[in-house]
Amino acid sequence: MTVSKQQVLEALAKVPTPRGVPLPQASVLSEITATDGKVFFSIGVDAAEARAWEDVRHRAEAAVRGIAGVTTVMVALTAERKPGTAPAAPARPAGGVQPVSAHRPHSHGAPGQHPAAKQAEVEGVAAVIAVASGKGGVGKSTTALNLALGLRDQGLRVGLLDADIYGPSIPRLTGLRDKPQLNEAKKMIPLQRFGLAIMSIGFLVEEETAMIWRGPMVMSAITQMLRDVAWGTLDVLVVDMPPGTGDAQLTLAQNVPLKGAIIVSTPQDLALIDARRGIAMFRKVNVPVLGIVENMSYFQCPECGTRSDIFGHGGARHEAERLGVPFLGEIPLHMSIRSTSDAGTPVVESEADGTHAGLYRAIGAKVREQLKPFISAA
Ligand code: ADP
Repeated sequence: MTVSKQQVLEALAKVPTPRGVPLPQASVLSEITATDGKVFFSIGVDAAEARAWEDVRHRAEAAVRGIAGVTTVMVALTAERKPGTAPAAPARPAGGVQPVSAHRPHSHGAPGQHPAAKQAEVEGVAAVIAVASGKGGVGKSTTALNLALGLRDQGLRVGLLDADIYGPSIPRLTGLRDKPQLNEAKKMIPLQRFGLAIMSIGFLVEEETAMIWRGPMVMSAITQMLRDVAWGTLDVLVVDMPPGTGDAQLTLAQNVPLKGAIIVSTPQDLALIDARRGIAMFRKVNVPVLGIVENMSYFQCPECGTRSDIFGHGGARHEAERLGVPFLGEIPLHMSIRSTSDAGTPVVESEADGTHAGLYRAIGAKVREQLKPFISAA
């Protein structure tokens, strides 16, 4: 059954707003996408009004969910602060977006006390960590998934949130195509694979739809995936960040209650410059950098196992030392990492006794060690 934009607008006409007019007349709606029963749009308001509009967002979702044929609804509340206005009150956990504040005070709290911990935690999740890269194509998603499996093998309960909204690759890397169902509390139930709880925007929208989203809408969608998903009880939730260090990434780093971040880099100098930007970004928002992973570090011949340092070697390790962040490990450029990833059977799972799985597990162990203060099972 197809759902039209007109039907969505008719349902929204029953939703009142603080502006005294029904939602479609309030000049706050983005483009509405309605494909295969999946409906997405955003409500854009000034940050100072965000609280009042959270209720509208809920009512809008409920109204659209009531249309016959609608299977998924995501309504994002995007709050953009206008210059010169006061900062918005903190958004409620279920909804809105806080703008990036230009002067977020740097905290010098007691050792072990992470400023990020002040943000609203994700219910049931002990530690949320980000896997980031300064640019695309360095193997960030492959690393995020295999690291999540490495943490699983440490005996931890692990989830994976694919926040790489510009190119969600976790559906491909895990072979998952199903659509998440809603539970009784109307929260999305993450998909399960390899013992991980997995959520990706790619389960909800086509890749092209995600591409046209604007920065604030991206942020809001990710916040909702974080908060409106029934993650259950997790020790670690690994967030596969969008690549780069632009405003969307910075806002994300600031709004997600991160206990730490891992930077994935290739050995080439240029990639390291990007990696440095990544480290600077997390430091700016007081998120501890748990370390650097050097991916495609050296070439390992699939036939004879011989190692060739085709990119030069040791750049990321040297850089990590210089910047005072831990070096977590080197992953070779290897055919089986690529082929297993692209077949939806990550190497830690499909070649569990192999060298590569061992490398990812060793990285997992180093990350787990750093997360000990937060994880009771660790
Ligand atoms: P990103 O998330 O940084 O864009 P991906 O994780 O999607 O990058 O990886 C990009 C491509 O590189 C994929 O085809 C993946 O299989 C491949 N790849 C990633 N890491 C390795 C590796 N260590 N060895 C071989 N291929 C890799």
